[in-house]
Amino acid sequence: MDKKNIGKIKKQMKLANEGLPEKERVLFSDARPTSVTPLNKYLEKFLNWAQSQSLWFISFGTGCGSTELRPLMTSRFDIFKYGIAGKPTPRQSGVFIIGGYASMKTIKRIVRSYEQMQGPKFVIALGSCTINGGMYYDSYNTINRIDYYIPVDVYIAGCMPRPEAIIAGFNRLKEKIKAGECDGMNKYAENFDWYKKNQKKVIKDWNMPDFNW
Ligand code: SF4
Repeated sequence: MDKKNIGKIKKQMKLANEGLPEKERVLFSDARPTSVTPLNKYLEKFLNWAQSQSLWFISFGTGCGSTELRPLMTSRFDIFKYGIAGKPTPRQSGVFIIGGYASMKTIKRIVRSYEQMQGPKFVIALGSCTINGGMYYDSYNTINRIDYYIPVDVYIAGCMPRPEAIIAGFNRLKEKIKAGECDGMNKYAENFDWYKKNQKKVIKDWNMPDFNW
């Protein structure tokens, strides 16, 4: 192949992480996310059931909603008995609860945390502010719809939903996982450019890799 063609292909394969300094580039993958197709109907059914019984969520309170997550871990609601537990890092978590309004600064951390979670991963949008902006709908500093930036699997409306509503939301998530209907991760991979465009529109100081994994 001549040099002209090699140059053309390299140009087509331009990766979004190319702008990073060399020593930082090696810390991240240069591959785009890809959607996952089930290997076998019966195996997939078993895996979905197993995943639905062990939901570890990242303990990252983005807004007022995080105050309602704490009671879940106390003896009154005891969420551990449902196979649900909070974890300290995105790498260990399979569920991301966006607990309330996301400010322009927080959305950057949300995107990085979501992308660093390993699949299969699911998102719960908790509270009206994450769904339509809620009482901050016309704020200069918060985003209105979290699902423009990361995919959402379950919405729990209210301001702020009580712990019982959060448990109901988790039950809905379990049902959807078991039925194989939680395809947020695939949606993110298939519409990656659309999500990136939306994220970059609101995150003005974009100084992170496009592929955060
Ligand atoms: S929905 Fe209500 S409680 Fe939740 S972040 Fe918005 S204002 Fe706060």
